[in-house]
Amino acid sequence: MSAKPTDVTTLILGAGAAGMMCAAHAGPGTLVIDHAKAPGEKIRISGGGRCNFTNLYTEAEHFLGENPHFPKSALSRYTQWDFIDLVDRHGIAWHEKTLGQLFCDRSAKDIIALLRAEMERAGADLWLEAEPGEITHADGRFRVEVTQGGTPRSVTARNLVLATGGKSIPKMGATGLAYRIAAQFGHRVTETRPALVPLTFDETRKAGFADLPGTAVDTRITCNGASFDEAMLFTHRGLSGPAVLQISSYWREGDSLSVCLRPDLDLFEHLRARRAEAGGKALSTVLSEILPRKLALHLAAELGLAGNLADQSDGALRALTDQLTRWELTPTSSEGYRTAEVTLGGVATDAISSKTMESALVPGLFVIGEALDVTGWLGGYNFQWAWSSGVAAGRAIATR
Ligand SMILES: Cc1cc2nc3c(=O)[nH]c(=O)nc-3n(C[C@H](O)[C@H](O)[C@H](O)COP(=O)(O)OP(=O)(O)OC[C@H]3O[C@@H](n4cnc5c(N)ncnc54)[C@H](O)[C@@H]3O)c2cc1C
Repeated sequence: MSAKPTDVTTLILGAGAAGMMCAAHAGPGTLVIDHAKAPGEKIRISGGGRCNFTNLYTEAEHFLGENPHFPKSALSRYTQWDFIDLVDRHGIAWHEKTLGQLFCDRSAKDIIALLRAEMERAGADLWLEAEPGEITHADGRFRVEVTQGGTPRSVTARNLVLATGGKSIPKMGATGLAYRIAAQFGHRVTETRPALVPLTFDETRKAGFADLPGTAVDTRITCNGASFDEAMLFTHRGLSGPAVLQISSYWREGDSLSVCLRPDLDLFEHLRARRAEAGGKALSTVLSEILPRKLALHLAAELGLAGNLADQSDGALRALTDQLTRWELTPTSSEGYRTAEVTLGGVATDAISSKTMESALVPGLFVIGEALDVTGWLGGYNFQWAWSSGVAAGRAIATR
């Protein structure tokens, strides 16, 4: 004879950023379950251990998804300023690193402690190392079979919130569970793929770049209509660095990246000026003045650059400028979910309320955070989406 089910008002699957934030707002009778040993594991490792918890410039235009308008409502009702205010109220010191990206001064663990404190204040329960199994819905209640420490337990709830994130970093417990449950209840799931992820080259290209791993350079990378001005890093497998992670969300297999080196410089005018001042210098030496030396030497060899600057006509300098500002690089693949920061795509937003995150198909079912087809740029946008969507669902549940 199985034990009596645990009866709650709201069951949240996933004690990550979105799930914990939702629990802090969902009102009494909230239970969060997670199969991990600790809540908020991705928060802990985020931002190099300092958690880039939001971005000052958060706007819907920094998100990808089938419906670019979908994030607007939630982002405008719980903004970056609301989260900054919460961080301040918890006495967590922070700083802006670059491009509006806010990081903890001390540790990402401060953000986890904040969320746990907010959950406790709201009276939400947390079961860890608990694996959800079969889920059914009848008479306005969900029933979820849960295994915890080898013991089966049943939970019934009026509201079920899917907050189990995406597929990135399976080693940290990502399973794509929310997609399966949403599909079970009739929701469409868009194509999912690794995003904010390093890109890789085939063996020939890798061998050609064998001298470059560890070299970083300021670039503007363009692909499929998107452009990012940030650093690019050569790795043993291919390319990484913020510009590459950003563009990976727009890149598809077969696409080339157009790389502009040193977008902050008018290269043609710079080379002309250097020719007037120091025409006796070798081209590769002049390139080393504006690019990392290893990259300058690599390019000089790859482009067959010979002679001194004084030997170069305006036409030759123009051609060189074109080569350096429209360098075509064609990755073959990405490092995949093993290292991707997020999953692009997810539960389609056409059957989800942008105001409450509730399903239009099954009343009481909510989807929040990365599980949805809402993917932010690099720079704190993904956490802000987790906070905003978590609060939207939590508040809607609390006011029912
Ligand atoms: C290395 C790394 C660094 C990052 N740095 C940043 C950053 O600095 N800034 C930023 O904005 N974003 C960052 N991100 C992205 C950010 O972590 C995610 O967008 C965010 O955590 C999504 O929140 P979520 O609550 O939807 O999902 P998650 O935080 O992934 O939480 C999902 C939870 O569900 C649980 N779960 C999954 N499957 C199951 C299952 N089958 N049963 C039970 N529980 C389950 C997981 O254990 C987890 O606790 C980073 C991601 C990575 C991988």
